[in-house]
Amino acid sequence: MNKHVKEAKIASEWVLQSHVESNARTYARTVNFSISKGDGSLFYDDSNNRYIDCLAGAGTLATGHNHPVIIERLKQYLDSGQILHGLDMLTPIKREFTKAILEVLPYQLGERFKLQFCGPTGSDAVEASIKLFKTATGRRTVVSFHGAYHGMTAGSLALTGNLNAKSPIASLMSDVHFFPYPYSYRSPYGAQGEEMVDISLHHIRSSLSDPESGITKPAAVIVEAIQGEGGCIPAPDRWLRGLRDICTELDIPLILDEIQSGFARSGKMFAFEHAGIKPDAILLSKAVGGGLPMALMAFDGKYDKWLPGAHTGTFRGNQLGMVAGLATLDLLSDLRLVEEAARKGLLLKNELLKLKNKYSFIGDVRGRGLMVGVEIIRSPRMLDDNRNPMADGELANVIKQRCFDRGLLIESGGRSGAVLRFLPALTIEDELLLEALAILDSVMMDFYVS
Ligand code: PMP
Repeated sequence: MNKHVKEAKIASEWVLQSHVESNARTYARTVNFSISKGDGSLFYDDSNNRYIDCLAGAGTLATGHNHPVIIERLKQYLDSGQILHGLDMLTPIKREFTKAILEVLPYQLGERFKLQFCGPTGSDAVEASIKLFKTATGRRTVVSFHGAYHGMTAGSLALTGNLNAKSPIASLMSDVHFFPYPYSYRSPYGAQGEEMVDISLHHIRSSLSDPESGITKPAAVIVEAIQGEGGCIPAPDRWLRGLRDICTELDIPLILDEIQSGFARSGKMFAFEHAGIKPDAILLSKAVGGGLPMALMAFDGKYDKWLPGAHTGTFRGNQLGMVAGLATLDLLSDLRLVEEAARKGLLLKNELLKLKNKYSFIGDVRGRGLMVGVEIIRSPRMLDDNRNPMADGELANVIKQRCFDRGLLIESGGRSGAVLRFLPALTIEDELLLEALAILDSVMMDFYVS
C-alpha cells in the first residue's frame, strides 16, 4: 500500500476509534496513531515510524517493551500447563512471588510484613490500605497531601489532590484532610528549604495533636515519597523522617504509596529508602507486575485485623503478572537497575539543567533516578498570585506535542499541567536518553527568545 494511503487509513481508524471510545481517554488524544510494535525504549507506529518512549506505560515497563527475559519466562509458563488465574488460591508461582516480594523489602520489613494481593490496579491497593487501617484502628479519617495522586476509584480519588477529576463527583469518601506537601519550588508556606520543612512539620504535628483542630485522629496518613502525577516532586528526606516521627508519636499508621516511585525507579528499590524511614504499609503496582496487571499492599502484620473476605477482587490471582514480576526482579538485580536508574537519572538531570540555563521558560528541574520533571513557566519575572513564577501549561503541552511529532514520547502533569515528565524504562540506553534530550532541545529552540 502506498505510504500516504496507509497513513490516511491509519488516521481515519484513529478518528473512528475516538468516536467509539469514552471521552475520558487521555494519552490517546496526543498519540494519534496505533502502536504496532515495541522494543526496549523504542516503539513503532503502523507506518514504522520510530519513537523513543520516555513514558514507559506510566512507569510500568521498568525493563522496556518486550524484554526478552520477560517474554521468554511468560512463554515457558504458558507452555507449562499451569493456570492463568487462581483467585487468591495458592500456586507455585504465587508462593515464589510472595517470598521474593517480602525479601526485597528493606530493613528486614519482610520478616513482619504480610501481603494483600489486590485487584490489579494501583487504585485498588490504595482502597485496600484505607479499609485495612480503618478496620484496625477503628478510626474514620485519613490524611493526604496537596498534589497527591492515589488513583481514580471513589476512595482513592478522595485522597487525590487534583480538583478537576474530583469536582464533578458527589459523595466521594468523606473525612479526608489535606496538608500542604513540601513542594519547594512553589512553597505552600512561602518559606523555602529547611525553613519550609520545619514549618510544615510543625503545622502537621500541631494540627494532629490539637484537640480543637477539627480533625479526629486519623486511621492513616498516606503519602508519596516522590509525587508523580502531582509534578514529579521529591519530598525532602528530613520532612519524610519528621512525618514518620509524628506518626509514631501519635500512633498513626503511615502508608507509603510507591506505586509509581517503587521498584528501582528512584535509584533506590523504594523511594522512601532515600529518607531511611520504615512505613507501616507499602503500596505497589505498575512495575511490580513486569508490565502485566498486578497490585499489592505490603503491611505490618500487627494491623492484620480485618476479617476473611474484607478485601477481595476477582483478578487478584493474575499468575502471568507474578511470572513477569519475578522476571523483573531478576532483571533488576542482574542488570543492576537500581544503580543504573540512579546513574542515568543524574545524566538526565544534568543535561536538563544545561537546558535550564539556556531557556528562561524552564523554571525547575527536579526528581530522583529516572523520575524527572521539568517545570515550564512564562518567565522567571512573571509571578502568580502566590508570588511564584507563573506556570505555563499551554507551552508545556505544545512542547510535549512537538516532541511527539519528532519521535519522543514524554508526559506532562503537575499544577496547570506545566511539568514535563520523564519516566523512561530503567534499561534505556544512554544514547537514546541523549537522543531524547536532543529532540527536546530542538523543540525548545522553537521558543527560544534571546
Ligand atoms: N498511586 C500513584 C502514586 C500513582 O502514580 C498511580 C497511577 N498513576 C496510582 C496510585 C493509581 O494506579 P492505577 O492507575 O493503576 O489505579
